[in-house]
Amino acid sequence: MTDDNKMIQVRNFVGGAWTTPSSAGQPVENPATGEQFGEVRFSDEADVDEAVTAAKEAFESWRQTPIEERLQPLFRYKQLLEEHQDEIARGLVREHGKALSEARGEIRRGIENVEVACGAPTMMQAGHLQHAAPDIDETAVRKPLGVFAAITPFNFPAMIPLWFLPYAVATGNTFVLKPSERNPFTPTKLVELAHEAGFPEGVVSLVHGDKTAVEALCSHDDVEGISFVGSTPIARHVYETAASHGKRVQAQGGAKNHVIVSATADLETAVEGTVGSAFANTGQRCLANPVAVVEDGIYDEFAERLVERASEVVVGSGLDEETEMGPLTTRAHRENIIDAIDAGADSEATLLLDGREADVPGDGHFLGPTIFGDVSPDSSLARDELFGPVLALVRVSDFDEALSVVNASEFGNAASLFTTSGGEAQRFRNEAEPGNLGVNVGTAAPMAFFHFGGSNASFFGDLHAQGDDAVRFYTDETIYIERWPDT
Ligand code: NAD
Repeated sequence: MTDDNKMIQVRNFVGGAWTTPSSAGQPVENPATGEQFGEVRFSDEADVDEAVTAAKEAFESWRQTPIEERLQPLFRYKQLLEEHQDEIARGLVREHGKALSEARGEIRRGIENVEVACGAPTMMQAGHLQHAAPDIDETAVRKPLGVFAAITPFNFPAMIPLWFLPYAVATGNTFVLKPSERNPFTPTKLVELAHEAGFPEGVVSLVHGDKTAVEALCSHDDVEGISFVGSTPIARHVYETAASHGKRVQAQGGAKNHVIVSATADLETAVEGTVGSAFANTGQRCLANPVAVVEDGIYDEFAERLVERASEVVVGSGLDEETEMGPLTTRAHRENIIDAIDAGADSEATLLLDGREADVPGDGHFLGPTIFGDVSPDSSLARDELFGPVLALVRVSDFDEALSVVNASEFGNAASLFTTSGGEAQRFRNEAEPGNLGVNVGTAAPMAFFHFGGSNASFFGDLHAQGDDAVRFYTDETIYIERWPDT
């Protein structure tokens, strides 16, 4: 990405060459200034077909490339991502808005996946049993399947493509990325570096686009599997469409997560953890906890300290090193959040901190942290995903009631508990339904060696992203049964 004032254009990467997507698209904006600095064009069915065909051709030799050789570009890729980390982070802030420290952090989490995927020679070993039956030994062999595609959202344009790309190619598949149209330049940079790292032509491809490209990937005969991350309605649609075309699918959807603040909690830890979780990435995070379920005994003191701490969050351009919270990524999304705050202010909830008053000069899509108190657990503020810096406080009488509020959610991505009680922590671990649980941790984000994925309407499929699940998703196990009679 350049820093001059020219409008920059996206390019697809197909069969080792850069091409231009066929259809007109939309401008890409800097959310901190409102400046349009780039354009994303959209791929049509023919563009997608070209990328998938190139990936299919590349698969035949890539699958037979010795694994040690397959990993060499991945090692170089890690090194290149590290060398370019700051440049990628600055480009990411320009098209997404988040704070520079958050952008650097997300790239680091992406690199972590490259590191874990470099363990493929061990992770792909399946199993062998001698004397499984008289004179018979049995061996499980993990094999790559072909072309996989990943369709990714706007909120982590560097990290989320890296939940998939490294594992897909390390296991011997070829890979087509369709990133979000809202911030297409960061994923383009990731693919440029993959090319520089030396993956053979067609092993890693990139198509930009919107739902036309997504439908084409989900219904293409030569795509074996689809990884999707985005909102619940589209995750469900992608899951159903791709599955009906015979593909394996992992589709991660939206979320509305909770943090429980027990009456036994250390308040300072709970306040810091809750503010960090609700407002980092401007609340545009599937692991954010935008609902705090607080026991009556400490509710008032917690709310007072929370509002005081949230008022200190520094809102501004992500490129300023002191900024803690950048703008929302799009103007339309900011307007949606303001509508939701307006509706909340007209409801029975109490507006304790009003982010509509954030005073940041310029034409950026800024909002400050917003907190509502005494929110009904059945209200839209407590149940519907907003994906912005709005925190709802729900008052409960005890831990049992708190747990039931968490488990009544339509979603199941994550939940956290602040407590000093081992008994509560144990019950939380055993009884809370979300896929990622944190105790005295505001945001339950698993490292790359563990799988990542939610439950209920936050996930459609069975094998999640990252770690061992990723290796299983990208491979099939053949069982090889041998008998060598002693003649
Ligand atoms: P989105 O669903 O609008 O878009 C995600 C992808 O789907 C994009 O690549 C987009 O081009 C494509 N898409 C959009 N509309 C489509 C349609 N009608 N048909 C086919 N494809 C379509 O999501 P978003 O706004 O980019 O991202 C935010 C959402 O993602 C939030 O709901 C958030 O919770 C969720 N998310 C979930 C996780 C997770 O791990 N569960 C992680 C990050 C984000």
